[in-house]
Amino acid sequence: MRGKLVAGNWKMNGNLASNQALLQALIPAISPIAGVKYAVCAPFPYLGQVQQLLRGSCIEWGAQDLCQFDHGAYTGGVSAAMLADFNCRYAIVGHSERRSVFGETDEIVALKFAAAIQAGLTPILCVGESLSERESGVTEAVVARQINAVMVHSGVAALGRAVVAYEPVWAIGTGKTATPEQARAVHAFIRRSVAARDEAIAAALPILYGGSVKAANAAQLFSIPDIDGGLIGGASLNAEEFIAICRCAQPAA
Ligand code: PEP
Repeated sequence: MRGKLVAGNWKMNGNLASNQALLQALIPAISPIAGVKYAVCAPFPYLGQVQQLLRGSCIEWGAQDLCQFDHGAYTGGVSAAMLADFNCRYAIVGHSERRSVFGETDEIVALKFAAAIQAGLTPILCVGESLSERESGVTEAVVARQINAVMVHSGVAALGRAVVAYEPVWAIGTGKTATPEQARAVHAFIRRSVAARDEAIAAALPILYGGSVKAANAAQLFSIPDIDGGLIGGASLNAEEFIAICRCAQPAA
């Protein structure tokens, strides 16, 4: 049975003082509940701080990216093994900001995904279409291409140790959320695409929705059968909002 996961993506935000205040607000407010996981993905320099503060809590942590290479002359790179040293559980790969601002191709994303798996991290693979792609009716083709790149490189079985996040690019940080029907249709498509290669892996694969999730829309989105939680950007920086979103992932009492 798939559980739910709510993961915060802090992006390039925060500092030592604000991270501490945020985590100290989250820790007592988020309770462990069977079948629900919580995580925050912090900027690299703060992983040590996050590890120290979250140790012993029910909130796991991760990074927002990683280098596809193991070690060596890759100035600025941070390897999967380095993330594992900080007990990261997750590494986001292929976020649309990495793809569009830093020019990451499907091939690079597939290498990063493989590097994360190799180090025992759980990659959160982001996929999603731009507004023009949606308007030209190629949403499914784009998402299929992005997922296939990973399945071809690492094999479908690797998705058994991963999370997929469907993040329509036009909904990220814009305040526009996919309608429940738009999200449902793409999530179902992703699951069908993986099922075409392996039904059991598809059935167990957590598929998160990301794109302007807030406390006000999380419950509706998380109630859709193929939506297994959320990847939360802006709202994860606000303790009250993030706590409320986490609670929306919990089963009704
Ligand atoms: C994200 O950064 O992955 C994201 C979904 O951002 P936001 O929630 O701010 O749209």
